[in-house]
Amino acid sequence: MSRPQTSHLFYQSRQRRPVLDQARGVYMWDVDGKRYLDGSSGAMVCNIGHSNPRVLEAMRKQMDKSTFGYRLHFETEPAELLAARTAALAPEGLEKVFFVSGGSEAVESAIKLARQNAIAIGQAQRYKIISREPSYHGCTLGALALTGYAPLTAPFDPMMRPMPKIPAPRAYLDGLDPDDEATGRHYADMLEAKILSEGPETILAFIVEPIGGASTGALVPPKGYMQRIREICTRYGVLLIHDEVMTGGGRTGKFFAGEHWNVDPDILVISKGFAAGYAPLGAMIAHKDIVTNVLDNGGFLHGFTYAGNPLACSAGLAVLDEIERENLCQNAAETGALLKSELKKLMDRYSIIGDVRGEGLLLAFELVEDRASLRPLAKELNAFNELVDIAYENGLIIYSRRTRGGYSGDHFLIAPPMISTPDHVAEIIEGLD
Ligand code: PLP
Repeated sequence: MSRPQTSHLFYQSRQRRPVLDQARGVYMWDVDGKRYLDGSSGAMVCNIGHSNPRVLEAMRKQMDKSTFGYRLHFETEPAELLAARTAALAPEGLEKVFFVSGGSEAVESAIKLARQNAIAIGQAQRYKIISREPSYHGCTLGALALTGYAPLTAPFDPMMRPMPKIPAPRAYLDGLDPDDEATGRHYADMLEAKILSEGPETILAFIVEPIGGASTGALVPPKGYMQRIREICTRYGVLLIHDEVMTGGGRTGKFFAGEHWNVDPDILVISKGFAAGYAPLGAMIAHKDIVTNVLDNGGFLHGFTYAGNPLACSAGLAVLDEIERENLCQNAAETGALLKSELKKLMDRYSIIGDVRGEGLLLAFELVEDRASLRPLAKELNAFNELVDIAYENGLIIYSRRTRGGYSGDHFLIAPPMISTPDHVAEIIEGLD
């Protein structure tokens, strides 16, 4: 198929992009036969690469059996097996898995479970979920209430109850040292201050990406931050929710990003890398005690028609097999370290690169006016759009976020599939240079 004159598709962006023909491994081809290296794994989704034959085969086998089984009528083997595998990977106590079809649905489920737990344990006055600014937690109204980015949320404020926010650690820490525990404390203590000013008895939960995804541009929190967040939540009876929609599945070098600090949440959500783009799939993984409280108190008032779809779950199982068989978390850590050091070398040549950051194969670099001022690029500077176009021309797809200072600035996520090799790293650097 070539590009139609008029498209009836309706997306956020008015920009036209090449028409995709096929994808294999880390590469994608458009209908004109041009090849692109998928430097952002779609939207940090296609963690194990495209068209993996073993995953496709597992899905075909499931298709021959059944493509749908409604959870209220049947339990299915793929859902049961995937729940067990997921619980085994999750932190201790997080034993109960609730399947959904995407990240926003997973966050929405966590909101509902946390609230029903508070009611079940006689703390119905707890309803506020604190989140961070900037942040992104999804586009349903509940998830949006937690999203810390006013241009996205403001139009809908009358239709939801916006939740309290604390500042996320920034890309440039105003001279503070990210390796100094005092910096981590400085940002984490804002959570305690917020809990106290809002009234601890009203706070239900705190939601955080252990490593910031697109909203902050692969921002790794300062030393001690996540541990102290955990301590504060425990002290005030506030549930800790890890949003691992982007980080879950191994691309930071650990299956869950929270593992970098041995911090266990009470509820964890995962989606993008879970079935790695082979099917829409997400999950909320919750501590068994929370689920018991809710189920013993009348049941969980929540659910989606496609939850636990056997085809999606068979893809999820095959993706987990692939991650384990090919040792992909380790590869993400090693290849990511190489890519990060090569991106840092570009800083020597281009002073508009303000920062290179991230962990494993969730990396970002940020453009600034110049490194001395660290001011975000002025609106009229075309360097940002030009870089996206140059990358496309060079056959490289990168994930760009032009937020005009609203988030952490103007940044690009570089997040190729976890199967990437040093040769792919060289290709990415060439594509940017
Ligand atoms: N949470 C985070 C951290 C995300 O990055 C996203 C999507 O980018 C979401 C939630 C929402 O996921 P979805 O787009 O699958 O609804």
